[in-house]
Amino acid sequence: MAVIVNPKETDAVCFALVGKELITKKNGDMLTFQDMLYLKGLCSECDFFEEESFHYCTLEFKGELSADYQTMTIRHFFAEHDSELNLKLARARSLLAWRRDYKYCSFCGTPLVDHAVQTARECPQCKKIHFPRIEPCIIVLVNKGDKILLVKHIQRNQDVYACIAGFIEVGESAEHAVQREIEEEVGIQVKNIQYKGTQSWPFPDAFTAEYAGGEFRLQPDEIADAQWFSRDDCPATPPEGSIAYRLIHNLF
Ligand SMILES: [Zn+2]
Repeated sequence: MAVIVNPKETDAVCFALVGKELITKKNGDMLTFQDMLYLKGLCSECDFFEEESFHYCTLEFKGELSADYQTMTIRHFFAEHDSELNLKLARARSLLAWRRDYKYCSFCGTPLVDHAVQTARECPQCKKIHFPRIEPCIIVLVNKGDKILLVKHIQRNQDVYACIAGFIEVGESAEHAVQREIEEEVGIQVKNIQYKGTQSWPFPDAFTAEYAGGEFRLQPDEIADAQWFSRDDCPATPPEGSIAYRLIHNLF
């Protein structure tokens, strides 16, 4: 189903995004369509669209927020809402980013236009259709007896110990990516890789694996620390609502 640019009055769920944050009313309530029109009026260049089939509308806000509104992190929102609402927000966020980053035809350089029927963009010159890209990744919890492997990253989420994760590279299966990421980030080998589930954003396939051998050899510029922890004696870890939380707390 195509996006509707500049939607008319709708009762769809409303998401206004600014960077990695979601705008809510000052009291934490979600925005109404009237709020969306108000915010749209503050940033005339911002992308604003509705997907009727997913029953949400969204805009990428770029203006100055008034005191009637506040922001919360998307991660925080995910932790507090059900998977159906989270799917809508994940879709809104990914489509906004894709529409922002893919404005020109990669075959002939012509500016793209929204496709009339599909959630895609079309080149008016060479007629090539461009679909939103997804970026599959893996996340894995490694077990060694009754201990689990958690790592602290250098670049991101430095406040928590988390699972090993990374993007699936061209030509790899998800299981290949699990083995490669573990080898690259901490230098150990694993066996018995088992698929556990997935999450709509940022689209990780979650796995567990068993330690098979090797000593820690941390990836420079990526991993600050790696340790085996007991589940009942973990440091600060990713919050409820994340797929890492479900892996660490054995909720699959
Ligand atoms: Zn083209």
